[in-house]
Amino acid sequence: MEKSKILYLVIPCYNEQEVLPETAKQLLAKITSLISAKKISPKSRIVFVNDGSKDQTWNIIADLHEQNPIFQGVNLSRNKGHQNALLAGLMTVKSFCDMTISLDADLQDDINAIDEMVEKYDQGCEIVYGVRNARDTDTAFKKFTAEGFYKLMQFMGADIVFNHADYRLMSRKALDGLEQFEESNLFLRGIVPMIGYQTGEVYYARKERFAGESKYPLKKMLSFAWEGITSLTVKPIKMITFCGAMLFLISIIILIYSLIRHVTGATIQGWTSIMFSVWAIGGLQLLSIGIIGEYIGKVYLETKARPKYIIKEYLHDAD
Ligand code: UDP
Ligand code: MG
Repeated sequence: MEKSKILYLVIPCYNEQEVLPETAKQLLAKITSLISAKKISPKSRIVFVNDGSKDQTWNIIADLHEQNPIFQGVNLSRNKGHQNALLAGLMTVKSFCDMTISLDADLQDDINAIDEMVEKYDQGCEIVYGVRNARDTDTAFKKFTAEGFYKLMQFMGADIVFNHADYRLMSRKALDGLEQFEESNLFLRGIVPMIGYQTGEVYYARKERFAGESKYPLKKMLSFAWEGITSLTVKPIKMITFCGAMLFLISIIILIYSLIRHVTGATIQGWTSIMFSVWAIGGLQLLSIGIIGEYIGKVYLETKARPKYIIKEYLHDAD
C-alpha cells in the first residue's frame, strides 16, 4: 500500500482561551486515532493560528506546543480577521503536508467528518467541502441570517457552496492554486470554487459553541456579506445598467403616451416635453453610470490579477 498522507489541521483562533484546551484535547484524540488506523501519516500536525488575540490564547498554544510537538502555532502580528488568519495558516504549512483541513476553534463543526474528508481525498478529491445539513442548534435568528446570507450571495452571482463555511479539506495542489489568487480582499468561500479540480462534499450537523461567544455578531456578518459581494462580483453594477435601460424604455412609453395626450389636446402647454425629458434624462443618466461602472468593473477584475487558468495535468515525455 502506498504511504499514508500527511494531514495538517489549521485552526484560526481569536480570543479563544475558554475553548482552546478542550479543542486541543479533542483534536489530538481525533488525529492520533487516524494515525493509529494508518489513515494518515504520523507526521500529521495540528496548527493553531493566533489572530492577534487579546487574551491568553497564544500562551495556551505555546504551552501545547511545548508539551507535544504535534501542536504547532503561528502567531500573527495583530488581528487580521478570520479569513486572513486562515490563509496565513494554510500558506505557512502548505509545503509540509499533502492536505489541510481548516476548522473553527469552537468545534461547532463536527470533527468526526474529518475521517470522511480524508477518505474523499484518498478517492481523488482535491477539495472537500464540509456542508451543514442541519442547524437545529443555531438560534432561529442565526439560522435565518446565515441562510439569508447564502441566498443573497448566490443571487448576487457569487458561486458559493450552500451552507458551507470554512470547514474544508484542501490538498496541496489546491492550495498552490489558491496561492495564485493575489487579491487582497479575500473571501475564501467564493474563491475556492474558482480553483477547480475534483471536489467532494461531506455532510455534518453543526453543534453549539461549547464555550466562549460567537465572534460574528450581526454587524460583522453583514459586513462579511457585503465584503463577499463586492469582492467577488460586479453584478450590482450590472443591475444599475439594467435599471437604466429599463427607465429609458419606460421613457419611450411615456413619450408615446404624452404624444397621444398632446394630439388629443388633453394637456397644457409644455407638459409633453417636460414629461418625456424627465424620464429620458433619468434613464440615460443611470444607463451612462452603468456603462462607466462596467468599465470600472473590468478594471477591478484586472487589478485582482486572478490566474487565467490552473493546469491540472500535463502529459509529456520525460525530457
Ligand atoms: N476568528 C479569527 N479572527 C477573528 C474572528 C474570528 O481568527 O477576527 C476565528 C475564531 O476564533 C473561530 C473562527 O474564526 O475559530 C470562527 O469564529 P466564530 O466561531 O466566532 O464564528 P461563528 O461560528 O459564530 O460564525
Ligand atoms: Mg463558531
